[in-house]
Amino acid sequence: MTDSDQATPRRDAPAGGADPRRQDGCVFCGIVAGEVPAELVASTDAVVAFRDLAPQAPLHVLVVPRDHHPDVVALAAEAPGVLADLVATGARVAADGGAAAGEHRLVFNTGASAGQTVHHAHGHVLAAPGGELAGSL
Ligand code: AMP
Repeated sequence: MTDSDQATPRRDAPAGGADPRRQDGCVFCGIVAGEVPAELVASTDAVVAFRDLAPQAPLHVLVVPRDHHPDVVALAAEAPGVLADLVATGARVAADGGAAAGEHRLVFNTGASAGQTVHHAHGHVLAAPGGELAGSL
């Protein structure tokens, strides 16, 4: 991680009043703002990547947009460039984490019935550096 990988409050956040790009009570907005602790592994101007609290694979990182979007479908519609950045950052995290050729699985749960529990868009980057991921789709 470099100095630029810190989750810092947005430099262009409004001076007063609610920030329309974040949602009150959202844990991932809290991580992006540096208010909720997380183990950050990468970031760009648009996304932040941090380790999942309950890893489901040897490498399990979440990549989230800095701005609040409820799920990946909304993110794709409202900020497709940020979604592209999220995908590229996930690949970089997998490669930096030691996955052969950067190979990884990228999962977006969309909606509660599909297992989404945090309603701030996020991609799960799953990889097994030096081995193989369990299961398949
Ligand atoms: P999903 O079920 O697709 O909404 O994924 C939410 C993920 O967020 C789960 O894998 C949780 O383990 C993870 N998670 C929830 N809170 C935190 C947190 N504070 N730091 C890191 N990961 C978290």
